[in-house]
Amino acid sequence: MESFLKRFSKNGDFLRDAFKKFFNRDLMDFFQSRGLKLKIERQMRVFPVTDRSSSILDVLKKELEKAGAQVICKSKVVDLLTEKGMVKGVRLDNGREIPADRVILATGGASYSFTGSDSSGIRLAGKLGHAIIPLCPGLVPLTVKEDYPRKLEGLALRNIRIKFLGGKTRIVSDIGELIFTASGISGPLVITLSGRVMDLLSRGEKVSAEIDLKPALSVQQLDSRLLREFKLNAKKNIRNTLKELLPLRLIEVFAQTAGIDTFKKCSQATQKEREGIVSLLKGFRMNIAGARPIEEAMITRGGVSLKDINPRTMESRLIKGLYFAGEMIDVDADTGGFNLQAAFSTGYLAGESAAI
Ligand SMILES: Cc1cc2nc3c(=O)[nH]c(=O)nc-3n(C[C@H](O)[C@H](O)[C@H](O)COP(=O)(O)OP(=O)(O)OC[C@H]3O[C@@H](n4cnc5c(N)ncnc54)[C@H](O)[C@@H]3O)c2cc1C
Repeated sequence: MESFLKRFSKNGDFLRDAFKKFFNRDLMDFFQSRGLKLKIERQMRVFPVTDRSSSILDVLKKELEKAGAQVICKSKVVDLLTEKGMVKGVRLDNGREIPADRVILATGGASYSFTGSDSSGIRLAGKLGHAIIPLCPGLVPLTVKEDYPRKLEGLALRNIRIKFLGGKTRIVSDIGELIFTASGISGPLVITLSGRVMDLLSRGEKVSAEIDLKPALSVQQLDSRLLREFKLNAKKNIRNTLKELLPLRLIEVFAQTAGIDTFKKCSQATQKEREGIVSLLKGFRMNIAGARPIEEAMITRGGVSLKDINPRTMESRLIKGLYFAGEMIDVDADTGGFNLQAAFSTGYLAGESAAI
């Protein structure tokens, strides 16, 4: 559990009780015991063998049916009814009131709002006096100040490392994949570190990114390799020789950035030009402007403050009978299923506590 908790950007400790009650193995057992076949892929990510989210949904729907639950679709909760600090029910957007002495609010964050998760549930909690930590995008593509990305849009770089530098902080990624977008950079490496980068920006730090396109080679090794390639291909132009090392679109951007005429012959390349290429290969730099909007983020950071939720039950500390679960709570984690597990675990704990 400790290594799991470390994948939460902050506040992971809040989930300890929920994870003790219902953790990853319990979640797998829940689905497998109901006939769903699962597979474990790289980095221990668990998926249904069908690779379809509808397989998960089918199990949950059957379970609700078995429990005699009534599911009301296409209706929005617009108000939480309370009396003397106790929950009394909910009001729907068609005016219907549903009485209840226990309500579990699990309305998600503000990302991908077309799915219905438009932060309205967080606002309802705020209206009842719960502190709300301001919402911001998490796990999101970043935007950069330079205009290279427009020229490189769609280009994927594999087996690279990216470093983010801001003030005295250095955030270094694993080796993996990066994708250029119309306004910046995305892909697993960037998305995973985006929250920490946003934290630096929100502290007023200037943040730059350096892409190491050849993380397995040192500067000296790379320089020797380039020297060797240039000698072997003395009569070819620099552009054609670099194609062995880089995608063509990137060579064009490199040429502009380093001010190198890549149409000249390798034999004419100066030491300074070679060093310029090596330093771009080891640290292709850009300045981070910010992040794409919350709508495009995989998760929402912020939400209902943990100080107003009892971690042992998920019950509100302000309104008796009101419980919270999932992304609307102020916890968020890396990609890899951690957010989903947090939603399932807090949902389980809230459900069990509300049923007592
Ligand atoms: C593209 C994408 C990829 C993702 N990939 C991963 C991943 O790889 N790993 C991971 O761990 N997490 C991932 N996530 C995040 C993960 O899906 C969420 O953290 C998780 O689904 C949160 O579950 P939830 O039940 O709290 O909220 P949601 O799944 O957002 O569900 C909330 C539900 O409440 C409904 N609702 C909202 N407001 C109201 C209202 N007022 N009245 C009635 N209903 C309402 C919504 O329609 C929605 O159905 C991804 C998210 C996205 C968008």
